[in-house]
Amino acid sequence: MPGKLYLVATPIGNLEDMTVRAVRVLSEADIIAAEDTRNSIKLLNHFDIHTPMTSYHEFNKYDKADTLVQMLLEGKNVAAISDAGMPGISDPGYELVVKAREAGIEVSAVPGACAAITGLVISGLPTRRFTFEGFLPVSDNKLLKEALERLKRETATIIIYEAPHRLVKTLGILLDSLGDRRACLCRELTKRHEEASLSTLSQILARYETDKPLGECVLVIEGADERQLAADDVAELLALKPEEHVMHYMSQGMERMDAMKAAAKDRGMTKRELYKLLNG
Ligand code: SAM
Repeated sequence: MPGKLYLVATPIGNLEDMTVRAVRVLSEADIIAAEDTRNSIKLLNHFDIHTPMTSYHEFNKYDKADTLVQMLLEGKNVAAISDAGMPGISDPGYELVVKAREAGIEVSAVPGACAAITGLVISGLPTRRFTFEGFLPVSDNKLLKEALERLKRETATIIIYEAPHRLVKTLGILLDSLGDRRACLCRELTKRHEEASLSTLSQILARYETDKPLGECVLVIEGADERQLAADDVAELLALKPEEHVMHYMSQGMERMDAMKAAAKDRGMTKRELYKLLNG
């Protein structure tokens, strides 16, 4: 009978966040696939867990996934952990789950700490809908531009991970493209110096341009205002020539008559008035 793959969350700073079930599953597994065995040995020692470990990280995640799936097929139970938090969330894990599922292996999670959700719930920003961006692709201009264009129109709360040494640069980029939105910078979550205050992107930037940012951080940003987006869209259309305005709707698949009706409505005129304008 095949074994089972467990994705086990580990603390993101406070060892008290290790769950009772996480300790049991890690103790009972046949093998622990750890992102960094030198890092995880401290956690395992702390909880008196003696299960053998193997490394499963960003640079061997495809090949090693095959080896781990083979072990699972041979009946071994495998527990995957990352350096902190939930495996698979800006950490290795996803590829292993895909391959395990392809092989018909049962996959289960042992939930626990995750910096994104921890930051979101204390941010004071809406939690009903949110989008998790992980790390922005700051070293690839094309991907970064695409991500920012998408985020500009994102109405759900946005969660971003960032390393302290890139924080100021990333805040500057976000302020330039999203405008001065409300935002909460959550630092050192669950640790002694945890800090999370709700202000604005410009205020956070001003602070960290002078105070060197320390510790890991999650940035939670207010989504775009739907009414403002709609108003901006109409303002952009009104700046077009009337014929371009009609063409805009036609390029979206409307018949000319419908496109004229929509453009006339945006311009606060009747279709006949727009027709005159176009043919005058
Ligand atoms: N898998 C992890 C999780 O579930 O949150 C995330 C791993 S990712 C490689 C590391 C990033 O998570 C950090 O750069 C930071 O953005 C965020 N992070 C992790 N621990 C944190 C903490 N204690 N406080 C704030 N952010 C944290």
